[in-house]
Amino acid sequence: MKTSRSQKSEVRSQIFLFSVFCFLFSALCGCQNQRLYKETQVMMGTFVQVTSPEKSAAGIVFSEIKRIEDLLSKYNPDSEVSRLNKLGKLKVSPDTFYIIKKSKEFCEISDGAFDISVGPLVDLWGFTAQNYSIPKDEKIKNTLNLIGCDKIILKYNDNVVEFKTSGTKIDLGAIAKGYALDCAVNKLKERGIKNCLINAGGQVYALGEKFGLPWKVAIRNPRSLRLGEILALKDRSISTSGDYEQYFIKGNLRFCHILNPKTGYPADSGIVSVTVIAPSGLTADALSTAIFVLGKGKGIALAKKFPGTEVRIIEKKDVQNNR
Ligand code: AMP
Ligand code: MG
Repeated sequence: MKTSRSQKSEVRSQIFLFSVFCFLFSALCGCQNQRLYKETQVMMGTFVQVTSPEKSAAGIVFSEIKRIEDLLSKYNPDSEVSRLNKLGKLKVSPDTFYIIKKSKEFCEISDGAFDISVGPLVDLWGFTAQNYSIPKDEKIKNTLNLIGCDKIILKYNDNVVEFKTSGTKIDLGAIAKGYALDCAVNKLKERGIKNCLINAGGQVYALGEKFGLPWKVAIRNPRSLRLGEILALKDRSISTSGDYEQYFIKGNLRFCHILNPKTGYPADSGIVSVTVIAPSGLTADALSTAIFVLGKGKGIALAKKFPGTEVRIIEKKDVQNNR
């Protein structure tokens, strides 16, 4: 028979266990209340996925990205970029003027490795229409006459952009997504949203945190669908430029969509994929493309000029299947 003392201690221990159970239960319920909303839309030629504890975040991001896409897409004949490419001279919006100005700065600092005037070359190789072919050397040489940032003139007093040479065209494919993410993040901040992950293909912005911890984003393995290094990010953008994103293979050689504006041929710097982590989407996007063209040594030297920037490079010698 139990004594009243042992009965009391058993009751006390049951109360203790019940309290522990209640504490754990409420803690677990608390976790379940920390819900994330996830929405995806096809925009800017890729899947844009928005993840946030705020339900309204996705709508804000999608409408801002759509606004930028409508200005900058070369696939929309009514966009400012398409009209500028057609007319050779156009008064543009502050957004378009700003991104062209930043592109010229990246062109200069990368010694012409990043150059939005590659438009005619991108068309020539069939990357715009996805109708790939290796152009004749003569055609590449003639097209190179249209390329160069000095061919893009900016008139600061009235936001007019003009091309020096007839036939010059700009292609913002290497910088527009990064800029669109920055614009979307600014809109989220204006509306008081502090935490959100935006993933637009190879381009990500991690705003704030995920329930008090940095967002986690994996870099893709360039030669398989397996994931590589996992990065913990807070208020950072990452951009990956890779030879696996758009390419064609002829005669055992891979021809990728990032072109060397000096030679007119696909970049062949030995890099298979480069990921840049930077405080802004625009910087991450432009730098990843520039480094892909420059190669590891010059690329890392360039990244050092941008404070708060980190780089991960995978070279041909690091992967088994080089094709
Ligand atoms: P990304 O994936 O950001 O590296 O951008 C690649 C896209 O940018 C290509 O599909 C082209 O539209 C364009 N592009 C290709 N080569 C260059 C270059 N050297 N500089 C700037 N844009 C480029
Ligand atoms: Mg880029």
